[in-house]
Amino acid sequence: MRTFDFDLFVIGGGSGGVRAARMAAQRGARVALAECAELGGTCVNVGCIPKKLYSYAAGYAEAFEEAEGYGWHVGETRFDWAQLKANRAREITRLNGVYRSLLEAAGVQLIQGWAQLTDAHGVQVGEKHFTAQHVLVATGGMPFVPDIQGREHGVVSDAMFDLDPFPKRLVVVGGGYIACEFASIFNGLGAQVTQVQRSAHLLNEFDEDLRQFLAKEMTRTGVDIRFNAEISMVTRLESGLCALLSRGQRVEADTILFATGRVPNTAGMGLEAAGVALDERGGVIVDAHYRSSVPSVLAVGDVSTRQQLTPVALAEAMVVVDTLFGKGKRQLDYDYTPTAVFTHPNVGTCGYTEAAARMKFGKVTIFSSEFRALRHTLSESKERTFMKLIVDKASDRVVGLHMVGPDAGEIVQGFAVAMRCGATKADFDSTIGIHPTVAEEFVTMREPMP
Ligand code: NDP
Repeated sequence: MRTFDFDLFVIGGGSGGVRAARMAAQRGARVALAECAELGGTCVNVGCIPKKLYSYAAGYAEAFEEAEGYGWHVGETRFDWAQLKANRAREITRLNGVYRSLLEAAGVQLIQGWAQLTDAHGVQVGEKHFTAQHVLVATGGMPFVPDIQGREHGVVSDAMFDLDPFPKRLVVVGGGYIACEFASIFNGLGAQVTQVQRSAHLLNEFDEDLRQFLAKEMTRTGVDIRFNAEISMVTRLESGLCALLSRGQRVEADTILFATGRVPNTAGMGLEAAGVALDERGGVIVDAHYRSSVPSVLAVGDVSTRQQLTPVALAEAMVVVDTLFGKGKRQLDYDYTPTAVFTHPNVGTCGYTEAAARMKFGKVTIFSSEFRALRHTLSESKERTFMKLIVDKASDRVVGLHMVGPDAGEIVQGFAVAMRCGATKADFDSTIGIHPTVAEEFVTMREPMP
């Protein structure tokens, strides 16, 4: 029988790769992990974690304003961008260290460098060549920037955390997760933000009522959203940058962020030469057990999946580890994956949009509510909260749950458990609310929409 240097060689030290390497090693496998940058991948270094920290920072601006209604006189406030950046960098370095310790403690051999597949079982990193029974590609994704004139003057989300100086005027191109989050964050931190979205809505594939409501709320907080507007050129001026929009509009800015989607990170890794089939986006094509067209090569996370979410990558990694080194084959069920967008206010969602539910289930009942939360009776904030339930008429199952409002991500996480268990509207109705909370509205909505 052929012997290999390792049982598993993981390429990429992000969420999926680290989880797979660590858990496989804990089950006794001989594991190596190659990473050319810091451990933790997009999520830890330039994604979820620093973004959420900056989102908290942005939230204080509202909190200071609202405090007065509660009798607090906050006095003069001053935002120190350099301090936020330094504190974030310190926390991210700490997390990089945590990832390293976890891998080392599990016995994973860490290899620093760019890894390339040489054949079905071979990986080259610099001068060194390794063999492994299984190779897991977990190299994530990277920002995509459309081919427009002057795009080199713009930046992608990776650069937003360390901008210098703070952009007083920011143009955000795109209407997806990343665009909406950064537009909200920098608006909260004090920038004048213009968001340019090519279509008539934000957040493609989200519920129509939800995204209309979000656009209204983001506009209320000060984001200037230009719908049906494409950016055709970026030029450099003495006073900064200028974005030319398709209908002749010009927007001046200090920074232009392209948040126009992400593509799988597979270039220059020798995948195709080794026989690994890629899709039209460059993503690794995998089966339900994450095997590529080369059976010894697997892929998880953003490099292959269509749900680019850290918890999805973690779950896929666990399926791979169970399949290769443990409990045996199992399949991940992606239905009712909850997700949040950390705009101000937050978006939380689980299950089907109204349009998708009508297509899938035929007859559905809609419950919807919009209100001012108790907190804002004294804060005098004009913020409103939106909640919506979609119920399959035939089974009474709650198949869609959507929210725009404070802590929507925290609230929807719990409801997602119930929804995966098949909770019906009758179950929601028989659940006692927690009073007074915003979340109780989900169990007290009684009147369907006409
Ligand atoms: P998305 O796919 O969500 O959004 C891309 C946006 O760019 C869309 O609004 C799209 O417009 C627009 N766009 C695409 N191509 C062009 C173009 N050529 N010109 C102009 N506009 C264009 O991508 P993101 O980069 O925002 O996020 C990638 C993924 O990362 C998300 O899907 C999500 O899974 C994940 N993510 C998750 C987060 C979370 O969980 N909170 C946070 C951040 C990212 P249109 O709508 O018209 O197609």
